[in-house]
Amino acid sequence: MTSSAELFATARKLMPGGVNSPVRAFGSVGGVPPFMVKASGPHLIDADGNQYVDLVCSWGPALLGHAHPAVLAAVHAAVDNGLSFGASTPDEGKLAALVMDRIPGVERIRMVSTGTEATMTAVRLARGFTGRDLIVKFAGCYHGHLDGLLAAAGSGLATLAMPGSAGVTAATAAETLVLPYNDVAAVEAAFAEHGERIAAVITEAAPANMGVVTPGEGFNAALSRITAAHGALLILDEVLTGFRTGYAGYWGLTGAHEGWTPDLFTFGKVIGGGLPTAALGGRAEVMDYLAPLGPVYQAGTLSGNPVAMAAGVATLTHATAEVYAHVDAASLKLQDAVAAALNEAGVDHSIQSAGNLFSVSFGTSEHGVHNYAQAQAQQAYRYAPFFHSMLSSGIYLPPSVFEAWFLSAAHDDAAMNRIFEALPAAARAAAQA
Ligand code: PMP
Repeated sequence: MTSSAELFATARKLMPGGVNSPVRAFGSVGGVPPFMVKASGPHLIDADGNQYVDLVCSWGPALLGHAHPAVLAAVHAAVDNGLSFGASTPDEGKLAALVMDRIPGVERIRMVSTGTEATMTAVRLARGFTGRDLIVKFAGCYHGHLDGLLAAAGSGLATLAMPGSAGVTAATAAETLVLPYNDVAAVEAAFAEHGERIAAVITEAAPANMGVVTPGEGFNAALSRITAAHGALLILDEVLTGFRTGYAGYWGLTGAHEGWTPDLFTFGKVIGGGLPTAALGGRAEVMDYLAPLGPVYQAGTLSGNPVAMAAGVATLTHATAEVYAHVDAASLKLQDAVAAALNEAGVDHSIQSAGNLFSVSFGTSEHGVHNYAQAQAQQAYRYAPFFHSMLSSGIYLPPSVFEAWFLSAAHDDAAMNRIFEALPAAARAAAQA
């Protein structure tokens, strides 16, 4: 078979950077990205025949583990009936009902194909509903690559140290207010000054694109209170956290008990079980502003695609309380093991978590990481040697210090032990950086 090195050399002549999504190019860690040919359970296999324990899990979707038999069976059955009809299908309602059963605040839902489309539509809908133009976002939060939300956007922009994107007009950028994360006073000040023009605040339910950052106690609740007081909407972006940090996403761990509900949620990743599906949902009064009922237009040739719906229905059906208990427990064990290895090697670090999501930052133990400025100020250079040591031991980590680590229900003792065994050498490599 052609090696990853040869495939990457060819790909670089065919695609910008050799990739179809920037972080895959290994820009910040260096080296040749392994080209993957197969995934099963907790494992990835590359074109060179190496098997890795996967801690990326397709950036979230593979909650049940790769190629879960029930999901594959559902997809095979759907494929046999045809790939796309351009008309409504029974499974769209099934997936909608599964989401609504978990999250009562989703009174209506619209399926789209990517997380970017979900947040883009949510923003347009918020503007259409309120008749206002400004959007508030937080530095370090990533909501996809829509023009208006690319400023200080975390994820691949953090990895590439880009403050924003070329190609976004000044007029568009001026309609986004970027505030520091975890800073309620900054939100109150923005509303005091611009309250009558703010259509919505959009926030990651728990930020995981500047590394993981724990929302301060009551931060999301304060956003809900402030937006409501000013007639603006709260858009809770659960593209990454939804159906991963628990049965009802991160909202289920927080808002469900604290007594707040966003006006709109966005979902992606797990909801499609590995196929391109995402969604926005929320209050019926707001959602019914979407066409064909309302004046806010949105549409999609492949929206609600029957194969993707089958994968989503099977995935949510099998994402039981036991699955979340397993992923939560595995996450805690791994966080402890990483901390122990780094402590043993004398590497200053902190581990930030939100539910079962976590990431490691270097040189941050004094203050932790509560916002983007602190995330950017860390000793990021320690990550590349840590990453490559793990990779050479057969552990596939996210190729950027600004991304979360993902586990699945398929990460069994054997897979976890392989990770634990690899950690001491990686910690020593980080210490020497
Ligand atoms: N919102 C969040 C919180 C995300 O993490 C992502 C992607 N990582 C997106 C939106 C965009 O989703 P997509 O890549 O499917 O467009």
